[in-house]
Amino acid sequence: IMLGNLGKNLTKTMKKLAGMAIIDEEVVKEVIKDIQRALIQSDVNIKLVLNLSKTIEDRSLNEEPPKGVTPKEHVVRIVYEELVNLLGSSAQEVEIDKRPYKILFMGLQGSGKTTSIGKLTKYLQKKGFNPAIVSTDTWRPAAYEQLLQLTEPMNVPVYGDHENKDALDLARTGLKAAKKNDVIIVDTAGRHKEESDLLAEMESLSTIVDPDEVIMVIDGTIGQQAGEQALAFNNATKIGSIIITKLDGSAKGGGALSAVAEIGAPIKFIGTGERVEDFEAFDPDRFISRLLGMGDIRTLLERAEEIAEEEGDMGSVDAMLSGKFTLKDMYSQFEMMNKMGPMQQVMNMIPGAGGKLPKNASQVTEEKLSKYKILMDSMTDQELEHPEVIKQSRVKRIARGSGMKNEDVKELLKYYNVTKKAMKGFGKRKMGGPLGQMMK
Ligand code: GDP
Repeated sequence: IMLGNLGKNLTKTMKKLAGMAIIDEEVVKEVIKDIQRALIQSDVNIKLVLNLSKTIEDRSLNEEPPKGVTPKEHVVRIVYEELVNLLGSSAQEVEIDKRPYKILFMGLQGSGKTTSIGKLTKYLQKKGFNPAIVSTDTWRPAAYEQLLQLTEPMNVPVYGDHENKDALDLARTGLKAAKKNDVIIVDTAGRHKEESDLLAEMESLSTIVDPDEVIMVIDGTIGQQAGEQALAFNNATKIGSIIITKLDGSAKGGGALSAVAEIGAPIKFIGTGERVEDFEAFDPDRFISRLLGMGDIRTLLERAEEIAEEEGDMGSVDAMLSGKFTLKDMYSQFEMMNKMGPMQQVMNMIPGAGGKLPKNASQVTEEKLSKYKILMDSMTDQELEHPEVIKQSRVKRIARGSGMKNEDVKELLKYYNVTKKAMKGFGKRKMGGPLGQMMK
């Protein structure tokens, strides 16, 4: 289980909250006590826990719930939002924006560095990239073999030489050999005779590799100490992002995540097991949803959201009507439309809009939706936010990564463009009917 008992305890608290007949100061305080206990058991820093408690209490007792939202739903939402904030609130991705994109990996021996390299390699392959690995760990000869073994099923080039004891030379040779690959991952030693030797080697390696991103791997089982490790690293390197490993079953993972988030170092991925698949891009929102067992709770929140939308602060629709409509927006629109009923039917409710819709728009079937979803999973964040950057080579890469054809990618893009145009079109129109009412 993820993060030991943290998830279980928090879920229990949320269920308890959901079962309360009335929400008053006493109930809020009890809920906060439960949350405090769960977080402290997970080694979250006491100061952070106290701040969080105070914010939850203040907001729960003083903030007026939006119209139509019960006080209970309101408190659930506040707890959820504040827990997300504890983890840094927004997702940060690896953005491969040049070729070759060079990533330098660092991490203490045993942190899960080698395993994480294998995981990231697989992740990038799934996105259609063509990564290579360069091993410069001269301290532990088995490191190269471990990498070879780990990546064997992935069929990626791994450059190294366990006879060569010169890390800098290995880096130079490897970079040259891998220059045709679009991502080069450079592994480094996790241990040395002296710590100062290790740091010196990192510095020289950094000069030679000239990395576009430096990733540090931190063992999540060390709890809030992870914060100090990340801080030291962030001070020593320029472009530092973090992978936190071993969050499966670790009682202290909450401490590691919150401590690293607190110092502002971007956590980009988390390791949740020993297998290559046990790896995910870190998204605080999604992470907390899962931790809280959001199934039931999400339904509650969605109701609150729908009502907030009726109240008129519907960010995505606003963006859409102003013409800023990204692939990400499109996907959430699909999901919303699905909830409201067939798209054509919805559009027919808008005077004058029905005919404007792309011919096949009403046939965005479940099957198409899941196909589009797989394609979008193979896109980078930049591509989802700025689809206009997707040209021929990216089309190929996305198709390769998702196991589909170039035509499929083009179909999605075409659909996106037509929809975007249509959205812009009736954004200018004054809308009546239920949907217009909703968008007011
Ligand atoms: P390195 O010395 O930093 O290269 O560490 P390794 O990659 O060899 O990993 C050390 C140990 O941690 C191995 O037994 C891995 O299987 C294990 N490990 C790595 N990542 C995770 C993870 O996310 N979850 C779990 N449970 N074990 C992990």
